[in-house]
Amino acid sequence: MLIVGAGHAGGRAAQALREAGWPGPIVMIGAEAHRPYERPALSKSLLTGERDAGSCALRPDAAWTQDRIEHVVARVAALDLGARAAVLEDGRRFAYDRLLLAPGGRLRRLGIPGADAEGVFGLRTLDDAAAIAARLRPGAHIAIVGGGFIGLEVAASARMRGCRVSVLESARGLLGRAVPAPVGAQMIALHRTRGVEMHLGATLRAIESRADGRLGLRLDGADELVADTVIVGIGIDPDTELARKAGLAVRRGVIVDARLETSVPGIFAAGDAAEFPSRASGLPMRQETWHNAETQARCAALNMLGAARPYDATPWFWSDQYDRQLQVAGEPALGTASVVRKIGDEAEIHFHLDDRGVVVGMSGFGAAGGAAKELKLARMLVERAARPEPARLADLGVRLKSLL
Ligand code: FAD
Ligand code: NAP
Repeated sequence: MLIVGAGHAGGRAAQALREAGWPGPIVMIGAEAHRPYERPALSKSLLTGERDAGSCALRPDAAWTQDRIEHVVARVAALDLGARAAVLEDGRRFAYDRLLLAPGGRLRRLGIPGADAEGVFGLRTLDDAAAIAARLRPGAHIAIVGGGFIGLEVAASARMRGCRVSVLESARGLLGRAVPAPVGAQMIALHRTRGVEMHLGATLRAIESRADGRLGLRLDGADELVADTVIVGIGIDPDTELARKAGLAVRRGVIVDARLETSVPGIFAAGDAAEFPSRASGLPMRQETWHNAETQARCAALNMLGAARPYDATPWFWSDQYDRQLQVAGEPALGTASVVRKIGDEAEIHFHLDDRGVVVGMSGFGAAGGAAKELKLARMLVERAARPEPARLADLGVRLKSLL
């Protein structure tokens, strides 16, 4: 059992293979020097100093040894399908009976002058997070390019560390593709209340290294912004290179069927890089979330052992910013109508219903602790494809539990 990519999905799949009773060799090859770890804290508690790198480990170090899982630190350069082997950059070859591709995604880079200047960072790895954390000194001016999840979470962390923070987002709103417009508007208000300078509709033309060691950001139609550090969070591209070069079917991601098997029998894919059929619509989709990596890894591992199990988890993710949490479950885009449940102080849940009145998605936002129970029940309504009377979803007099 060979796994390419020793990140969240790769590591979890290795563990699941052993847990499912596979007695033979399991090898995971990863380009990072670290054992598999979870990434969510990298933009949050690791930057605020509440957690350290060790606490992000997917499992304790000893667990890999106990489970006889070999971790090879190297980059796979090619797949040799004829010989059923992965070829490393240094020429070493690892043969497989079953292969899992779990390479995640690559950070998109800004295509402007100065994009690689000293003081400009992207955030994907523990090493990136350590380098950024060292720059979040009180009073430092941090400019963040991209108002997506990385951008907003890093903005919150940097404010919590006493930095001055500017967010530059090219769109007029925030998270337009991930949440309904009113939730995006709430996020903008939240960050402005906490002192973030939010530049919407901003187009960055160039970054200049100044003689004083700071960075000058040249914007269209606005004054130059001077910052100490620039953090770029403009999305990722799924890492499809190995698959494409080997001739596997690839679109945006590596195409897999409902059992997470690629176009080549015996080769599976999971995590950010996998493009799989939606359980709800059958349409191809990808998810770049912790829950997707976690659940696909477990499903792919069973199928590598011959289980033929369809991947049927309901999509779900969260984002923590300050003391607030956003959660999205299901596929809100499949909804044709929506109902809002106001659950208190700036907290609300948007339920997305399809033509039949089935709850196909929810997006909720509220205080991290306070709204948790309602958000969990809302997620369960999506998971169970509930079909309640819409007015009852909005009515605080009706408990969500009673609608399950
Ligand atoms: P990864 O975890 O990225 O692992 C892929 C690994 O494969 C990498 O280590 C890479 O180096 C390696 N690799 C790639 N190509 C090769 C090769 N050719 N040879 C060898 N190794 C290779 N999701 C949420 O739901 N909630 C959150 O709050 C959240 N916060 C996040 C915060 C940050 C800063 C980031 C970056 C992500 C966050 N996510 C969050 C998303 C979540 O972490 C990812 O969806 C998840 O890590 C994807 O897992 P993966 O295994 O597909 O990819
Ligand atoms: P993202 O969520 O895709 O957001 C990228 C943002 O950058 C979008 O708002 C995008 O706007 C904007 N953008 C794109 N090009 C730009 C440009 N040239 N200038 C300014 N803005 C630009 O990606 P991300 O925030 O970079 O996160 C990277 C990965 O980490 C993703 O896989 C993400 O899911 C994951 N992550 C997840 C979480 C979470 O789930 N809580 C937290 C952190 C990271 P448009 O949408 O208008 O293109």
